Amino acid sequence: MISEKMKTYVAGSSAIRAMFEEGKKMAAIYGADHVYDFSLGNPNVPAPAEVKAAIIDILEKEDPVLVHGYMNNSGYEDVRGAIAAHLNSLYGTAYGVANILMTVGAAGGMNVFFKTILNPGDEVITFTPYFGEYRSYTANFDGKLVAVPVDADTFQPDPEALAAAITERTKIVIVNSPNNPTGVVYTRDKLAAVAEVLEKKQAELGTTIYLFSDEPYREIAYDGIEVPWIPSLYRNTIVGYSYSKSLSLPGERIGYLVLPSEIDDFADVTAGANVANRILGFVNAPSLMQRATARCLDAQTDVAFYDGNRKLLTETLREAGFTFVNPDGAFYLWLKSPVEDEKAFVAAAKAKQILFVQGSSFGCGGWVRIAYCVSRATVENALPGFKELAVEYGLGR
Ligand code: PLP
Repeated sequence: MISEKMKTYVAGSSAIRAMFEEGKKMAAIYGADHVYDFSLGNPNVPAPAEVKAAIIDILEKEDPVLVHGYMNNSGYEDVRGAIAAHLNSLYGTAYGVANILMTVGAAGGMNVFFKTILNPGDEVITFTPYFGEYRSYTANFDGKLVAVPVDADTFQPDPEALAAAITERTKIVIVNSPNNPTGVVYTRDKLAAVAEVLEKKQAELGTTIYLFSDEPYREIAYDGIEVPWIPSLYRNTIVGYSYSKSLSLPGERIGYLVLPSEIDDFADVTAGANVANRILGFVNAPSLMQRATARCLDAQTDVAFYDGNRKLLTETLREAGFTFVNPDGAFYLWLKSPVEDEKAFVAAAKAKQILFVQGSSFGCGGWVRIAYCVSRATVENALPGFKELAVEYGLGR
């Protein structure tokens, strides 16, 4: 018999994953070239050549006992030092080894931080729409996820709505920019307004509210748009970073937390996070990947490739009469369903072998998410189907 809690997780199991499985079944029936699967944020751009070169060089030249061994639960000191120095060069910060904790991807980092901070019943705020796994990560530690709507026109955070949602139980506010699922990059002004709300509320309630900046898409931004470094705007910020998207390594499960020395209870939080990494069963982040990514700090994924997909899709969808949020970052396009029940729209697209995910999976019905981290051919071959859908729904007249 599985636990009561697990029953609810299984029942609510990710619609994104379900769609991905569906895609595989359809590919077996129609052939992979005739299924246009925009369901999963699995990068199709290969990892930069530097990653393979680094792995080979490490395996050939470094001590295998060190490379494959246990280390400090927070990760190798030299790796954490290299990451700290890299961030310092980018953002003018003064981080050291103690401020970096290597994690099992962004998901691992969030679970480590949530385990460190949350007591049962504590509240975690997220802006809607949001990455659906935040629900599970919060429930893992018996926290309560509180969803706050964003500005309905811009999909930027709404500082007033945030202020109204904060209570004395609010421990963590999550921001995710560039955003999954909207592709929106939060502006410096909006983030400063969020920081101001949090400062005020902390003072008013006499509590600590940590801002958790979930940043797997940090480097995937277009047209030179600024992705602000949030710890410089709000003192109690923790950054959760991941190489899943920035280096196309989602299966390798590698990322890190930045825990700035200025945060409240820094010593307790870092000690707690170190233990959390161990007792959640991660023990430490994958050792070979720690060593490899530390050698690839300046490597970049092919953002121009995603940009090409973005341009193709947005041009066609705009011409066809669809309404969508112009994506500034990540590789997601947030499209308004032509009918209120977006599940019907998802089904209509599926009939044309086009797969994308219902907005309700992100806590925001009436919209759908198109993940365009797919081959150019997939985008090109799906365009006629999108045009047909527009005609069927009477758009663009
Ligand atoms: N946060 C967001 C917003 C994501 O989109 C994802 C993955 O898609 C994650 C966290 C988890 O990333 P990781 O694979 O690094 O655990």
